[in-house]
Amino acid sequence: MHCPFCRHPDSRVVDSRTTDDGTSIRRRRQCPDCSRRFTTVETCSLMVVKRSGVTEPFSRTKVINGVRKACQGRPVTEDALAQLGQRVEEAVRATGSAELTTHDVGLAILGPLQELDLVAYLRFASVYRAFDSLDDFEAAVGELRDQREKRLDEEPQGAGREPGVKDCGPGGTGEVPVPATAAD
Ligand SMILES: [Zn+2]
Repeated sequence: MHCPFCRHPDSRVVDSRTTDDGTSIRRRRQCPDCSRRFTTVETCSLMVVKRSGVTEPFSRTKVINGVRKACQGRPVTEDALAQLGQRVEEAVRATGSAELTTHDVGLAILGPLQELDLVAYLRFASVYRAFDSLDDFEAAVGELRDQREKRLDEEPQGAGREPGVKDCGPGGTGEVPVPATAAD
């Protein structure tokens, strides 16, 4: 980049260090022409264009806050919200795009939220997809039913992938009679 003082088109890096949280690199640079020093910061750019046209950095916190609202009164833990936030960020970063719209972010939320809680999903989708009638809700519930049936069809027999629900818990033998040793 150009020297901010004299506009010389080149600069030399004299120091380079990663910030504590590892999300950016600060470089101390020196202009070979005027010898003045300046600092640049390198971060992984991910901007979100809002409906108003305003652009702001992607914020995982904002995603989580939005989803938390939809989860009010639902059995969803803060931990689950944090995990959802991480999945959404990974998904939007994986697109490789440096600029997204709020619509893209909303779309990335729908999938993980559907897995997390169906009621919260419907609440969120009703706002995101601007439901304005019962028909819209009915259609969304119909979609969910179809998806669930498809999943049940595809699921391999006996491979229960339901988290935390297992028939064969550890040490669940209960009172199995032990054969007597002195049976003579
Ligand atoms: Zn300069």
